[in-house]
Amino acid sequence: MAANELVKIRRELHQIPELGYQEFKTQRYLLERISELRQDFLTVEAWKTGIFVHVKGTVGTKTFAYRADIDGLPIEEQTSYHDFRSQHEGAMHACGHDFHMTIALGLLSYFAEQQPRENMLFLFQPAEEGPGGALPMLEAETFKKWWPDEMLALHIAPEYPVGTVATKPGLLFANTSELFITLKGKGGHAAYPHTANDMVVAASHLVTQLQTIVARNVNPLDAGVITIGVIKGGTKQNIIAESATIEGTIRTRSIETMKQIKARIEALVAGIEVGFTCRASIDYGANYCQVYNDEASTAAFIEFAERYEAVTFVRAPEAMTGEDFGYFLEKIPGMMFWLGVDSEHGLHDARLEPKEEAINVAVDLLISYFKERDQNVSAGRE
Ligand SMILES: [Zn+2]
Ligand SMILES: [Zn+2]
Repeated sequence: MAANELVKIRRELHQIPELGYQEFKTQRYLLERISELRQDFLTVEAWKTGIFVHVKGTVGTKTFAYRADIDGLPIEEQTSYHDFRSQHEGAMHACGHDFHMTIALGLLSYFAEQQPRENMLFLFQPAEEGPGGALPMLEAETFKKWWPDEMLALHIAPEYPVGTVATKPGLLFANTSELFITLKGKGGHAAYPHTANDMVVAASHLVTQLQTIVARNVNPLDAGVITIGVIKGGTKQNIIAESATIEGTIRTRSIETMKQIKARIEALVAGIEVGFTCRASIDYGANYCQVYNDEASTAAFIEFAERYEAVTFVRAPEAMTGEDFGYFLEKIPGMMFWLGVDSEHGLHDARLEPKEEAINVAVDLLISYFKERDQNVSAGRE
């Protein structure tokens, strides 16, 4: 697909951002674009609001998979765009998934014409931002039928210039979990505290206690984050609050530390129940496992990227952000990399403006990379 065609697709997608599992227009749009491609080697299967596209190779002993996430965020756009702003009020492609879809379409259009030797599988995955589409897509019958040998994905990176790709072997993205705690006590008159169980006081103690987990339970050479972003309780200044809720997020560098932190949270919450005579419930909401890049897959990609003239390779640091692509990498060797898009404003920012030149950089890089891997695998060189 020509560069201007890809930009047009990106702009069309940018105008129709939809939240997790509501990507109806997006799915329809993608299916239309896919239907315009040469169909001889393709099998297309819709899955919920996502899509699987299988490309049959001439030899087909192995399968390479490529995943793009397709959902937007509940953010009101504040970019400088005039002609292609989000048409969905309160929703925006502020995480670059419009780029991710466009790049996947560009890659797919090439291999729909130039049949690869090995099979390819494209995943257009819904709900990355929540509640999580990777795990259910991984468990889908369609995926099992086309189970890949290796899997790749990218994420746009506003902090890198166009023409830069970055990654590292091992941990790339953290383990993440949402955290919702509700405390229920007994309300009452502000002047009769002895007849009530005040959940504002209980929640305050709990928030303070939660801060001790990273400070006192996590190995200082490891790393973790517990951030409480919301605390709500009570209805009026002279009424003792009957209930309170705490909302936050947990991030860790290892699966074990995530388990350890959750166990400590549960112990502290149990203590609050006893200490403040209340009932508590904990909900972890959307929780994603780490993105852990396979050594061999990453080495192959880095070796290629360093040799490929059109990009500069940078070794990426680990990030405490989450990505549900990690669920695929738990089961299938593969890797994820950052694509430089040079935006002053970062991911999840209402002003994110990734540079569109990066789309073609990524499509060309991925075509060359998959072509080379395809030939190497088919020739038995790997
Ligand atoms: Zn995001
Ligand atoms: Zn994202």
